[in-house]
Amino acid sequence: MPDHEEKFRKTKVIATIGPACDCAPTLQAMISAGMNVARLNMSHGSLESHASTLQRLRRAAKTLRATLAVMVDTRGREIRIGKLAGGKILLERNQRYCLFDEVRCGDQSGVGTTHPNLSAHVKVGDRVLIDDGQLELIVLSAAAGRIQCRVECGGLLYDNKGVNLPDNAAAYDCLAVSDARELEFAVAHEVEYIAASFTRNADEISAMRAQLQQLGADIPIIAKIENRDGVDNLNSIIAIANGVMVARGDLGVELKMGEGPTIQKRIIRATVSSGKPVITATQMLDSMERNPRPTRAEVSDVANAIFDGTSAVMLSGETAAGSRPVEAVRTMVMLALEAEAGLKQYGYLQQIHPSPSNEITEAVAQAAITMANHLKAAAILALTETGLTSRLISKYRPQCPILAITSSKQVVRRLAMNWGVVAIHYHGGGSDEDKIQFAMSRAAQLGYVRVNDLMILTAGSSHQAGSTNVIRVLSAG
Ligand code: PEP
Repeated sequence: MPDHEEKFRKTKVIATIGPACDCAPTLQAMISAGMNVARLNMSHGSLESHASTLQRLRRAAKTLRATLAVMVDTRGREIRIGKLAGGKILLERNQRYCLFDEVRCGDQSGVGTTHPNLSAHVKVGDRVLIDDGQLELIVLSAAAGRIQCRVECGGLLYDNKGVNLPDNAAAYDCLAVSDARELEFAVAHEVEYIAASFTRNADEISAMRAQLQQLGADIPIIAKIENRDGVDNLNSIIAIANGVMVARGDLGVELKMGEGPTIQKRIIRATVSSGKPVITATQMLDSMERNPRPTRAEVSDVANAIFDGTSAVMLSGETAAGSRPVEAVRTMVMLALEAEAGLKQYGYLQQIHPSPSNEITEAVAQAAITMANHLKAAAILALTETGLTSRLISKYRPQCPILAITSSKQVVRRLAMNWGVVAIHYHGGGSDEDKIQFAMSRAAQLGYVRVNDLMILTAGSSHQAGSTNVIRVLSAG
């Protein structure tokens, strides 16, 4: 059986699907290697191509009898450059380069952008950052659909790369949020999560939730924090979203260089404290896009996010476009396990102080963890319909695994995002006692408990969300 304190992985691994991994054998290998959540990035590919990816993902998970959640990552108010003849060009420092309002095929003198009116918004001296800030242009003049720039930081400019305007938040205001078709897609395909790009305030999350409700769905929304407004409105965003992503690619270029790490810690701490999942994203193992091994700095980066309490770590280009997508997942899993050993040894989790509510379910969750710690229980079993009890137990980051037993397959898949939770589907409609027997035997079959191990069980007196009010101590075998 796995040593549940060392081999059982609590941190979840999210991998972005792209051309480098989008075929059945590779997706299967990524799931076997430990991918818990697959991310479909709507900034790339068509809805048709995402639909067939989704089909491949679901089929792969079914073949392996594995649990996999799917997260649709919307485009939001993004700005991108258009196509370039030949796919890329080299920009030299101090050369002149033009950006145009309309989407037109670019060349050595200029390229179009997806912003319909950018020249009316930028000011002389503004910075235009392209490709997560790899390239920097300075605006020299802007008029009549044409922005003349000087290249401050040159390099290879590739097709369709993202553009950031850190000096000009207002330029995003007039951009239509093009998420409607993406939300319809997410609802039609019953995905487990939607990531809301460039979230600036809580109202944007409410608006997305209302759109989903109109479509008859209630899909959890992960707010991506990737600009100054998002950081400034963090607490109200956390209060309304179902989870948060530290989207370090855009965040890193929208903020002052060097501000990122402090803000990352703040976002992780505040989100963990609220009991919602938090994802640390982008460039975690960036060098693995090209190399078989991560750098020492990347290894530290992953570990530090885990020490701070992140629920999940995310791979982007490493799996979507890299040369070794399966190896990237495998490495992330191995690094998470190593870091989690340190979590216990150095007491990092004790530094997390969740804010408790006065709800009964949360009081039961806290009490279950206290009992599990006192009794050195092998696992906490949570009988849960909506997943709420297991999420609340996860909020307090217990040492032992949280086994969530639910009759909803959708809840099983959603819990793939939550720290320390293993969700188990219960088919039968029998009595609560049948369910408990099933939970205990699955816990043993899966190797989480051995004969004579103690388990703490939480359950409810009805099958409604928030009705958990029972704790029992069980003995295996
Ligand atoms: C990010 O900016 O870090 C991110 C995850 O968003 P995207 O990849 O959509 O730019």
